[in-house]
Amino acid sequence: MAKKRASGRKTTGAPTPGRQAKPTGAKLTGAKATGTKTTGTKAPAPWTTTEVTEAFRRFRAAQPEPKGELEHVDPYTLLIAVVLSAQATDAGVNKATPALFAAANTPAKMVALGEAKVADYIKTIGLFRTKAKNVIALSQRLIDDYGGVVPPSREALETLPGVGRKTANVVLNIAFGEPTIAVDTHIFRVGNRTGLAPGKTPFEVEEKLLQVVPDEFKRHAHHWLILHGRYVCVARRPLCEKCLIADLCRYPAKTLPVPA
Ligand code: SF4
Repeated sequence: MAKKRASGRKTTGAPTPGRQAKPTGAKLTGAKATGTKTTGTKAPAPWTTTEVTEAFRRFRAAQPEPKGELEHVDPYTLLIAVVLSAQATDAGVNKATPALFAAANTPAKMVALGEAKVADYIKTIGLFRTKAKNVIALSQRLIDDYGGVVPPSREALETLPGVGRKTANVVLNIAFGEPTIAVDTHIFRVGNRTGLAPGKTPFEVEEKLLQVVPDEFKRHAHHWLILHGRYVCVARRPLCEKCLIADLCRYPAKTLPVPA
């Protein structure tokens, strides 16, 4: 569980969950989504176990306890924040949630608050009407079926309104410490561009990452990769000159000559 900030809130370690995608991930396929370039050359060699271990050793050395930017105070507020973050930025969600959570930080209080008031608190976030409806519906389901607590189970989480595989992965990882890897647009791009975990859909990339990432790094792999994608291996022009894993990366259009 993440440490509390001075404000009493926590960082989630769940950076920018972004679009709530089901495993099909159809909209994330293709060179535009992956940030890769079509070179016409054959696929690069897969990473060796030694290379994967070295990459994550470097990520860990640089950020032993990676944190995300969505704020929450417990599993319930984490779940709500992640649901709200679909197709929105963490910063945008964080502007809305302090007031929302001050008004309602439990399922019962959220249901009592009601859909219209929830919508008013989150109206600066995209798709706020649908999200308000889902927040109320999932809160009611938590009360009805799970004693008002967030269940530590993928199967249960994915039955909640507005909760898909990626949100479940984030909650399982952050709130319950499971070694899940939630693949958003950043991790999808990094997995494909680097050749670390190529896949046509987020689910394929997730499965590949779970295969290749050594167990000792799985707990934080999601955070390291998403932060790498957000701040270094960015979509338009990756900052290869600042990249910790440039010598390992298979991207054929790296933006610098990489030293050995
Ligand atoms: S070398 Fe460039 S393309 Fe490869 S992971 Fe680093 S930033 Fe991304």
